[in-house]
Amino acid sequence: MLNIVLFGPPGAGKGTQSERLKEKYGLVHISTGDVFRALDPASELGILAKSYSDKGNLVPDEVTIKILESEVSKHPDAKGVIYDGFPRTTAQAEALDKFLSEKGAEVSMMLSLVVPEDELKTRLIARAEVSGRKDDADPEIIQNRINTYNSSTAPVADFYKGQNKLSEVNGVGSLDEISNRLFEIIDSAN
Ligand code: ADP
Repeated sequence: MLNIVLFGPPGAGKGTQSERLKEKYGLVHISTGDVFRALDPASELGILAKSYSDKGNLVPDEVTIKILESEVSKHPDAKGVIYDGFPRTTAQAEALDKFLSEKGAEVSMMLSLVVPEDELKTRLIARAEVSGRKDDADPEIIQNRINTYNSSTAPVADFYKGQNKLSEVNGVGSLDEISNRLFEIIDSAN
């Protein structure tokens, strides 16, 4: 089972590239951000998730881990999964390792998209026009998301580096150029 963690700061292009990896390798794409946004906004869980995501804060680990595990469990016959936006804390990474090892599986690799901060901000502001996302529209919230990434999420790369599973990929260029960089790494690992 191919389990790819697609990693990177907000605006790095994880969602776009995940769709391309999904197509090429026949994988299931799970984006915790998308799962949170798809919750019924009137439900208890929907209200809770929104109270964090609208401000650019992380949804608590306990809730996020449960949601992720239930999404993965919906695809028992998957050839593999792309994890987009998960794990975002070391505790989530440890939980994913445990969850997969109980299935006799493991994270195959982390592909980390590297994009300079100025470029991220430009992309997110532009995305706000089309996404209608509250967390894309406000420069202060964008800054909070980037700060949260730097403080809580960036250490997750070290977690996988320690397992020799980390590959950094230049996330600047055309969409095709970036996809090709990702394809090369996946193909050379298989
Ligand atoms: P982006 O990568 O552009 O910040 P996402 O769609 O991945 O956007 O996530 C949107 C929001 O959803 C995050 O700011 C956070 O509040 C919440 N979220 C998504 N994934 C996680 C996660 N793994 N842990 C905690 N919160 C998460």
